[in-house]
Parts: sequence; C-alpha cells; structure tokens
Amino acid sequence: MNANAFYDVLVIGGGASGLAAAITAARAGKSVCIVECDVACGLKILATGNGRCNLSNESIDFQRYNHPAFVESVMGSQPEEELGNFFSSLGIMTTSEEGRLYPRSLRAESVRDALLNACDRLGIALICGANVVSASKAPEGWALQIDRPARTLKAKKHDDRKTEVRSLRKVLADAPRKNETLQTKAVIIATGGNPADIAQLLNLPLTAQRPVLCPASASVVGDQTALKTLDGLRVRARLTLTRNHEELWHEDGEVLFRTFGISGVAAFNLSRRVQHGDTILLDVFPDLSKGELLDMLNQRVELLGGFSPHDPRWLDGMLAPQLSHVVCTAFEQCHPGSHDVIHLVSILKHFKLLVEGTAEERSAQVTRGGVPIESVSTPSLCVSNATGAPLYICGEALDIDADCGGFNLAWAWISGIRAVSSL
Ligand SMILES: Cc1cc2nc3c(=O)[nH]c(=O)nc-3n(C[C@H](O)[C@H](O)[C@H](O)COP(=O)(O)OP(=O)(O)OC[C@H]3O[C@@H](n4cnc5c(N)ncnc54)[C@H](O)[C@@H]3O)c2cc1C
Repeated sequence: MNANAFYDVLVIGGGASGLAAAITAARAGKSVCIVECDVACGLKILATGNGRCNLSNESIDFQRYNHPAFVESVMGSQPEEELGNFFSSLGIMTTSEEGRLYPRSLRAESVRDALLNACDRLGIALICGANVVSASKAPEGWALQIDRPARTLKAKKHDDRKTEVRSLRKVLADAPRKNETLQTKAVIIATGGNPADIAQLLNLPLTAQRPVLCPASASVVGDQTALKTLDGLRVRARLTLTRNHEELWHEDGEVLFRTFGISGVAAFNLSRRVQHGDTILLDVFPDLSKGELLDMLNQRVELLGGFSPHDPRWLDGMLAPQLSHVVCTAFEQCHPGSHDVIHLVSILKHFKLLVEGTAEERSAQVTRGGVPIESVSTPSLCVSNATGAPLYICGEALDIDADCGGFNLAWAWISGIRAVSSL
C-alpha cells in the first residue's frame, strides 16, 4: 500500500459520499486512495434504514432539503436517473416501498459490499484506522501527513459483523502507529457529519452544528402523566407544527409516543424544524374532516348513548385505551362539565403538545450544519481555499440535510460523484 504514495485523488472519509467519489474518480482512470479513520469503510451504511438501507427515493424533491436551490444546482434535473445508473453500475438492484428505494435484498450490507467490491476491482487504496494530521500545498497539489496503524488490522473472524467490528476497534486502539506522507493532486473531504477537525486543519469555515432526524421532546399541556400513559403507543396521525399560531409544516405518519415526547418518521422530520416553545397539533383522524368526524361521533351517541369524559370506554374500538384515557382527561380540563362531542372533535383533531426541543440526539441520523454551502462553487463542489490546491467537499460534511426517505443518502451519492466530476 505504501508503494504508491502519490495519488491523483485522495478522499478523506470512506462513507457513502467518499466511496461514491472514489469509485467515480477511479472509473475515470484516476489513481485513488481513501483515508478512513474507522476500522473499515462504509460502516454507517450498515445501520441505515434499520439495516435495510433506504438508499434513495424515486422522486427527489428538493424541498425536502434545507437548501433546496443549492441541492438542485448540484443534483441537476435528473438525479433519479443518474442514481439509478450509479446503482446499476455497481450491480445493486433496487426495489421501491412507497417511493423509498431499497436494495432488492433488503439488506444494507449488500449495498456496502457492492461498493467495497467496486473499490477492490478498481484498485482503490483503502487506508483504515488513519487520521490526517497535517495538510500543505505541494508542487502538484497536496502533501498530507497521516497517522496510521503500522500494520494491517487483523482480528479473529466472527460470523456476525458487529462483533468483528468491535474486535477490530479494540485492535486499533492498541495498534502501534506510524506517520506517512501522501501526495495527491486533489483532496476530497467526505468526513460526514463531524467535519470540525478537518475544517480546522484546512482552514475552512463551519456553521453551528446540531443533530436532527431524531425524536422531539415535548409535553402535554396540563397533564404531566399523559406521556407516561401513552409510552410505547403507535398511532397514525397528522403532525402540524405551529409557531406563534402560524402553521409552519405538517406531515402524516406513524407517531410513537415516548415518555419524553414523540418519535417515528414524522417526528424525525419535525426535529429538523422545531424550536423550543413551538406547538405540535396532533390530528388522530387525519383522513376525516371535522364535519365527518362530528357526524361519526353523533352516530356513536345514537348507538352507545351520550359521551362522558368520566367513561373512556365510550371511545373503545375507536382509539387505543391509553389514548382514550388521555383524551378524556384533556376533555375534562378544557371543557369542564361538558358532554358535547363537538369538543371531542377539537381534541381529537388538535391534541396539543408543547415542544421542548429534540431528544435522543446521540442516535440522530444526520447533523445540521457543517461547512457552509457558500464555501463551494456549484455544481463542482470545489472549495476556494488559500493554498489554491484542488479541494472539494461532499456529503454531510457540507451544511446539507434532508427529511427521511432516502434523501440524505441520495445527496451523499450524487455529491460524491460531483466532487470528482470536474477533475
Ligand atoms: C442510524 C442511521 C440510519 C440512517 N438511515 C438512512 C436511510 O435509511 N436513508 C438515508 O438516506 N439516510 C440515512 N441516514 C443518513 C445517512 O447515513 C447519511 O446521510 C450518510 O451516511 C452521509 O454520508 P457521508 O459520506 O457524508 O458521511 P458518512 O456516511 O458518515 O461517512 C463519513 C466517513 O468519514 C469517516 N471520517 C470522519 N472523520 C474522518 C476523518 N477526520 N478522517 C478520516 N475519516 C473520517 C467516518 O468514519 C465515516 O466512515 C442514516 C443515518 C443513521 C445514523
């Protein structure tokens, strides 16, 4: 691996965007090296889509991204076709679930394996467990000093990959290390959601970062025990986010109640938009208008007798028992003494949660922020930097994030491809 210490392209970070960049550059005849700090490349891909890897979407909607115009200028007019060709070229067959694309195997490891097989076939050098310690301009581009394990990392073979990765990480922690200088014409930064070290090394600006695509922490106004009662319950609902009585966003989906707030895909998407003090209105009958719901409740009165908030069982067969209980408590609080189902309509369609912020950030799927988009030109993603040597940035290291649905990986693949396309 040391024999060729000069590369046309050096990619820092071997995740989705870095692998896409490396493969594209190698296919164009460039010699390529990936420097990856973890024990292997593409490990995060294994965790995506609950182990199934929602690798893209049939319809890339730019409005799903935090900077739609920028993403459009990089992705171009037919990203779906370009991504389809990229996956086919790797031998990845896809299947769609409501527009979300997965590998046909429904296994994330087959995506990672296909990418690593391509690296192998193309002779891309992978240096894992390595960190870049300095970067300076060289006559033909860059000289990067890396700190890497002195020997190839080896651990006992395990059937299950997670155990194998854990063993390798232990080996890495104790491995003797050495410094090495790599020369390259161009550097591609593909370090994912935590580009702070590399940005500092290369003197790049950074915007503030925060985890998104995670649950939202919230409370039920006036009922401290409601979320404890609802913990673990899943309901189909419409989430509407409001700020100062103005509707900002809404989405239908499955909501999972947790003791601290709400989770599930719609809540994850909400986490990209929430602010402390916002209100979430939960509509547990999004498929019915207020009038239709009132008609339905009036028919129920004829069938079961009048509604009383003291008898949550009146809602049996219509709501989960835990939710009936919480709805009746809210009814009593908001409309003391009333038995009128018209008030039930407003609670069922506007159940209020007060937002505290985001929760379980450690398991967030992406990071908002990073290197600001203003630092790069489009569509090449070339960074103007003081050295004048070719420097490009792709993937989550840039301040780009998107809703769930394959949009984040779609950005990673395409931005990786773009970052080497003008070389
Ligand atoms: C649990 C989970 C599930 C997800 N599911 C989906 C999904 O189904 N669909 C979807 O579209 N998106 C999903 N995402 C988001 C998606 O994984 C990311 O958007 C995508 O991986 C970003 O690609 P990237 O190449 O920019 O960064 P990453 O994939 O994070 O890769 C960055 C690589 O760089 C390495 N690195 C970091 N710093 C350095 C350094 N200084 N030197 C060398 N190497 C470095 C890292 O170890 C890593 O291998 C999910 C994320 C998570 C956490």
